[in-house]
Amino acid sequence: MKILIFLFLVLVILAACTPAHQKKTDSQVSEKHEWALVVHGGAGNLNPDDFTDEKEKAYREKLSEALSAGGKVLENNGSALDAVETAVRILEDSPLFNAGKGAVFNADGVNELDASIMDGLTLNAGAVANVTRIKNPISAARKVMENSSHVMLIKEGAEQFAAEQNIEMVDPGYFYTENRYKSLEQAKERENKNLEDKTKKSGTVGCVALDKNGNIAAGTSTGGMTNKKYGRVGDSPIIGAGTYADNNFCGVSATGHGEYFIRNVVAYDIAARMKYKGETAEFAANDVITNKLKAIDASGGVIVLDKSGNITMPFNTSGMFRGYLYPGDGPEIFIFQDNQENPNQ
Ligand code: ASP
Repeated sequence: MKILIFLFLVLVILAACTPAHQKKTDSQVSEKHEWALVVHGGAGNLNPDDFTDEKEKAYREKLSEALSAGGKVLENNGSALDAVETAVRILEDSPLFNAGKGAVFNADGVNELDASIMDGLTLNAGAVANVTRIKNPISAARKVMENSSHVMLIKEGAEQFAAEQNIEMVDPGYFYTENRYKSLEQAKERENKNLEDKTKKSGTVGCVALDKNGNIAAGTSTGGMTNKKYGRVGDSPIIGAGTYADNNFCGVSATGHGEYFIRNVVAYDIAARMKYKGETAEFAANDVITNKLKAIDASGGVIVLDKSGNITMPFNTSGMFRGYLYPGDGPEIFIFQDNQENPNQ
């Protein structure tokens, strides 16, 4: 009897000592999803007044299209990597987002693209940076991961490798969009007048998928930041900063002011907090984005998908193009803050 009372007391004490963020884990994993998919199209100063109905519809439709195409891959027993590549390619091909066609211009008036992808099963990863002729940088990143012994290739070397891998190459003019060129001119004007750039518009794209085999993959693709100079590379192609995936914990794709995301190793920080502190994806991601980064004026957001299919999409800007898809449901798309919804409730 005494031993039973002792055991009971030990259990009571253990329960009382469990931090709040760990307790949440148990309730959150109650529903395991067969597969799950989440995408983002960048975080930034997104003001509803700047969106006509048509413009908003166009963004919603393109995000839905990416989710539906990726979801189809997962529904048909495809891999998380295939789903991520499929969804990101659709967003890269759309002039709406700052990736592939529609990427922002650097200071020399060139579209320099960065992308990365990571496989949560093997922890393999691939990335390309500063490429100007690869139509879909996410596919080149995947080839780097699968068909080379390296993780990151840059500039002409990356392009030579991509061409050898039969990746579609285009003339750099393919990436031109009038909108982005105007943004470059405005950025230069502000720079000449020594004005701070408060627009913080974005459009980087990313995707995280969980497939039926429990594998997680994450990918991110971007044109970086308007008016970037000197071969600047942001967080998007940096494994651990802009992209991370580990089947045991989560997949992460980030968007925001890359320098801060690199210095704070944002994507890995979220996974590491789950691994070493037992935090839920939701708690870890929220704390990193809305407390840690916000405190140092680092704008941006992340999409995170854990091994049970729980999704969280925190950001500290006025908006983030984002959406998710679960089996049997239609895509759920959000742009502004007031639409924020917790998909796990
Ligand atoms: N993170 C990207 C970069 O710094 C930009 C963005 O997400 O808006 O290159």
